[in-house]
Amino acid sequence: MENYLSLVDKQKKFFRTGKTKNLAYREKALQTLRETIRTHEKQFIEALKADLNKSEFEAYSTEIGVVLEEIRFMLKNFRSWAKPQKVKTPLTHFGSKGYIYPEPYGVALVIAPWNYPFQLAVAPLIGAIAAGNCAILKPSELTPKTSKVLARIISDIFPEEYIAVIEGGVETTQALLNGKLDYIFFTGSVPVGKIIMEAASKNLTPVTLELGGKSPCIVHEDANIKLAAKRIAWGKFMNAGQTCVAPDYLYLHQNIRDSFMQNLIQAIKELYGDQPLHNPNYTRIVSKRHFDRLQSFLTDGERTFGGESIGEKLLIEPTVLTKITWEHTVMQDEIFGPILPVLEYNDLSEVIEGIHNHPNPLALYLFSECKNVQQEVLNSISFGGGCINDTVYHLASPYLPFGGVGSSGTGAYHGKGSFDTFTHHKSILKQTTRFDLPVRYPNVKNGLKMI
Ligand code: NAD
Repeated sequence: MENYLSLVDKQKKFFRTGKTKNLAYREKALQTLRETIRTHEKQFIEALKADLNKSEFEAYSTEIGVVLEEIRFMLKNFRSWAKPQKVKTPLTHFGSKGYIYPEPYGVALVIAPWNYPFQLAVAPLIGAIAAGNCAILKPSELTPKTSKVLARIISDIFPEEYIAVIEGGVETTQALLNGKLDYIFFTGSVPVGKIIMEAASKNLTPVTLELGGKSPCIVHEDANIKLAAKRIAWGKFMNAGQTCVAPDYLYLHQNIRDSFMQNLIQAIKELYGDQPLHNPNYTRIVSKRHFDRLQSFLTDGERTFGGESIGEKLLIEPTVLTKITWEHTVMQDEIFGPILPVLEYNDLSEVIEGIHNHPNPLALYLFSECKNVQQEVLNSISFGGGCINDTVYHLASPYLPFGGVGSSGTGAYHGKGSFDTFTHHKSILKQTTRFDLPVRYPNVKNGLKMI
């Protein structure tokens, strides 16, 4: 623990030298990070395969490629975001000028989960660097191969007083949280999010919490059924359902039940073949604990597709459960696995009420061709973000800040959102000394007093 506290102190000292605020320094750091990721692409792909059996395609398209794109976007834009910005002043402030100075917080702690162990560790780091901070990164202990490669490449390119990776589990994170940090960026579960927020409150450290929850996917009767089925199968079963914004469950309109189900099953087979458990590119469940947790859901409702698993390989088939109600075990918490429960509805008001009775989702997806239906859902339900007629894709746009609301999280990142998250916006009024407005002082008559 002493070591961790002294690391935080070392970073604080380094931050105070002002080096990390220099724009050229930030740019060089981002370029170096990009180069080393490119050079070590193969090692990351191998590590992701070993940790989660991720295919090369998924490793690149959902982890490495996303991060390289985020660096490209950041390098293109961060200089303009870092400039002090002149703002308007009201008449009451006649003679003065207002500015907003973006400045880094100092030492940021980034705590990452295991499901996208590369992307969810490095994407926040890009924001921290671009905004001019020092950072300590704590990757997940459940994906040790990826964490190890990360720790090695970061220590090769950055001094630890600037950027450091600390591997370890719960005790390590708790020890780090005892340091006097200037910012905490946490991605993970709701229960641990509460622990992090409580720890942050001791020093009033600002936090971003990127959490999870049950993200609904509504398929209305007027949806483009074939496309909806394909996009839902893709978003749900990629990474074996271990995606924070995966559709957790479906709300399916009764009138299209049969044709949608046929299309969904067809789409799953097209993506993973007739025997997904024997598809070498199908991701496994991260741990035995999570595998056992997911097994307990398989007896809920009726199995319309899948349901088989291989214990020793921690593999669970893409599974669709029908005849599900909110009372089933699978509907109590975030599933985070390849199991898709289906609730049916007749009227949109049932959907809105059902979602209102539960915590704010991180994501929501609606498949409908009708503008009024789209508007009604957007107006009446609070959720982090989402898509109309797609799943998961919103997360990959650098122009859309990504985050939750209420119990699915606080704060947002990606693109400018990442820069702003790791930036304090310092408001400054520059006042004239050429004259003084007497109206602001008590007992002085109106008028302009020249000095
Ligand atoms: P987790 O909360 O168990 O762990 C996340 C991190 O916190 C890990 O680095 C872990 O070591 C640390 N940690 C765990 N217990 C701790 C404790 N008691 N004290 C301090 N630190 C602790 O989450 P996970 O299982 O790694 O990830 C899955 C969860 O993360 C899901 O709920 C998912 O929805 C969520 N998630 C959210 C996003 C998002 O962007 N919103 C992205 C991915 C995952």
